[in-house]
Amino acid sequence: MYKKCDNPSLFTGRELWVMVVSRYPNEEPLLKPNVKYVANMHGNEAVGRELMLHLITYLINNYYTDNYVRWLIDTTRIHIMPSMNPDGFESAIEGQCSGGQGRYNARGFDLNRNFPDFFKTNNKQQQPETKAVKDWLESTQFVLSGNIHGGALVASYPYDNEANNMLTTFSSPSLTPDDDVFRYLASVFSFNHENMHLGIPCRDGTPGFANGTTNGAAWYPLTGGMQDYNYVYGGTMEVTFEISCCKFPERTELPRYWQENRKGLLHFLGEVHKGVKGFVKDSSNNPILKAALKIRGRDMTFYSTKRGEYWRILLPGSYIIEARADGYKPAEEEFIVTSQEVTYQNITMYPTRVVSDQSHVSSEGPWEKHLDIGLEIVPTAGPMANGEGSTSVTQLLSTHEKFDESNDKSSGISESEFDDYFSGMGIAKEQEKIDGNLTDYDIPPTADAVSAAGSLGRSFCFHYGCYNCAILIAFALVWRLRL
Ligand SMILES: [Zn+2]
Repeated sequence: MYKKCDNPSLFTGRELWVMVVSRYPNEEPLLKPNVKYVANMHGNEAVGRELMLHLITYLINNYYTDNYVRWLIDTTRIHIMPSMNPDGFESAIEGQCSGGQGRYNARGFDLNRNFPDFFKTNNKQQQPETKAVKDWLESTQFVLSGNIHGGALVASYPYDNEANNMLTTFSSPSLTPDDDVFRYLASVFSFNHENMHLGIPCRDGTPGFANGTTNGAAWYPLTGGMQDYNYVYGGTMEVTFEISCCKFPERTELPRYWQENRKGLLHFLGEVHKGVKGFVKDSSNNPILKAALKIRGRDMTFYSTKRGEYWRILLPGSYIIEARADGYKPAEEEFIVTSQEVTYQNITMYPTRVVSDQSHVSSEGPWEKHLDIGLEIVPTAGPMANGEGSTSVTQLLSTHEKFDESNDKSSGISESEFDDYFSGMGIAKEQEKIDGNLTDYDIPPTADAVSAAGSLGRSFCFHYGCYNCAILIAFALVWRLRL
């Protein structure tokens, strides 16, 4: 989506780009979850940047031949940002496996130390790249995310930071209330990676990681990381993937890295469909936006979107979800999650007083503690209706400007469709598509995709345009985050 930010341009004027791959890129169907990959926030960690280009191509090229890919694209909105730090990448040097040249942005900041922190005050000056990503997270409710790095081989999950505690030693685990989920998500990637799960150290004298996973703080604590920010402030389960021992290998090695990472990258995306999802609504079936939600026993608040949607990844088991919203009595619902498919659980809330205008309902209840740290959480998915599919970057951008202007219009979801969902009919329709499509995949990358990986992507925006134009059915959308 074309977005305007208040910040001035990047030091060098380069832009951040996002590709959305989805069956309906111009729409946001109700309860269709958003998932994202962000790569190359450390500019010299170049493998992820290339694999993201490769992944985009792979998804689109295999839509008609791979049941799993088709299911993913039909049921999911996949957002891919190949480079969060294009300036750093430009100063990095191909063939340098270690070191810091190109790691930082053009102003010398480490972007993975630049986000507001849950545990400690982060006094680092906010960088344009950081602001752009924060704005992006506010405009779209992401459920699941992968943050792709290099220089090690491990899947690292939150928290990355820890509270000061005299009783703990340096690099002790700092566990989230969703530790079981994060361990599982990290292992999905590591065990689908060709060798990450083996836990072999990248260098002599460095420790290996059991099963190729680790708690972030247990590896080494850091302040201002992006994955803790996603989890605490964005309601998004983000895991950091260190996918190559060499940060910037020679381009001839890229096909091997794609082969090693392909299944992990694909399988991880599908995990967005585990757990529970549904609507928070009032007794008249109106959506309740920004309801504060918690899974009982897990002290982490997340929020409903402005269409009343919510998602939470959970392992199989029995749970209670609690809801709070200003003007409504607290509500809770019990539900069961199975390993087979996502559970649908709507939450109905009843007013404590007459609410005349539903559109102004918001939650400012006792669970707002995460907002007190100077952040806005607007976990809403902006409407993306009214746009015609387009294969031109320019056209896409102008179309998106219209989306922004019509932000308050309906989401493009008809009233009858909304009612279908509340009554369960829409859910049944969607479930039909999911059933029977969960087959595994083992299709080798196409020649096109391999050659794309060999480009090292210095002009990947051009590549996006070309790939998109070459495809008659436009499954993909390009977003540009203007800085
Ligand atoms: Zn990194």
